[in-house]
Amino acid sequence: MSANRRDEAGSLPASYGTQASVRPADRTTGIRRRDLLVGAMCTCCLPALLRAAQQTGPMQLDEVAPGVFFRRGADEDAAAENDDALANIGFVVGREAVAVFDPGGSLTDGERLRAAIRDVTRLPVRYVVLSHVHPDHIFGAAAFEPDKPAFIGHEHLPAALAQRGEYYRKRLAAVLGDHRAGKVVAPTQLVRDRLQIDLGGRTLELTAHPLAHTNTDVTALDRKAGLLLASDLVFVRRVPSLDGSLRGWISELGALRALPARRVVPGHGPVALDWPRAAADLERYLNVLLSETRAAIGKGQSIEEAVETVGRSERGKWALFDDYHGRNVTQAFKELEWE
Ligand SMILES: [Zn+2]
Repeated sequence: MSANRRDEAGSLPASYGTQASVRPADRTTGIRRRDLLVGAMCTCCLPALLRAAQQTGPMQLDEVAPGVFFRRGADEDAAAENDDALANIGFVVGREAVAVFDPGGSLTDGERLRAAIRDVTRLPVRYVVLSHVHPDHIFGAAAFEPDKPAFIGHEHLPAALAQRGEYYRKRLAAVLGDHRAGKVVAPTQLVRDRLQIDLGGRTLELTAHPLAHTNTDVTALDRKAGLLLASDLVFVRRVPSLDGSLRGWISELGALRALPARRVVPGHGPVALDWPRAAADLERYLNVLLSETRAAIGKGQSIEEAVETVGRSERGKWALFDDYHGRNVTQAFKELEWE
């Protein structure tokens, strides 16, 4: 990090920020150096290069706003080679404490994030926000237990983890092995509607959303920085996965649009983008899913027929489309058939 960057974050403690693994994001395009580098290579080299980047050396972080650091997840499914490091995860540094906003997809991923935090600051990790129930975001939580933070989650997260947590853990352990997968960590503090956490000179406003991407979605707003940490309420480039309510998600995106944020960190995709412009592709996708699923139901199609026909115009516009889109249509169909 350059001296300039430290000056920009002048209100932060002297211990903050000296490591070469941290770099500012390109504020205008969100394009990072790794993207530029790989752009010159043949695409067949890309998966191997991404895996290599994840497994060796310190975690690569982008400073998306002064004192806010995120790692971009890989647009892949969980595999032994990627440690389930699929989600955008990171942390926010105040004058007195650090908040982690999603601890990572596995114990190994969480341990690497914890080490990356220690490269940036010695301040205590007082909060670990668990943005929702999906394993690629929260299975790194156990790595932070030695810090004794408050693990913060949606009021519905304990029930969701009771229902699915062990299933997720077994599935992840089958891919990574028990020692790398991590365990289910239950939240110790719940968000019912809103909750403010104070990091010293910096407040994060947490919101627990109604049914949208899942039934456990929490976002964070750093009002001073004009930055929204959206987690999976915003997908960019990686096809969205619908695990809550299609109509609810569209509605919550409308609410997020109205927030006083100029930049967003999505749950997947480039880690820093202009807000609300970054939501455009997702909103188009969700609205296509809504209108075409309604039309299929109106024509009397079965779920299987709808899966074959709905949203085909979106194919080619998203990573992992064939892996998740059919499930999204099924979920949308079940929600909309009783309208
Ligand atoms: Zn998710």
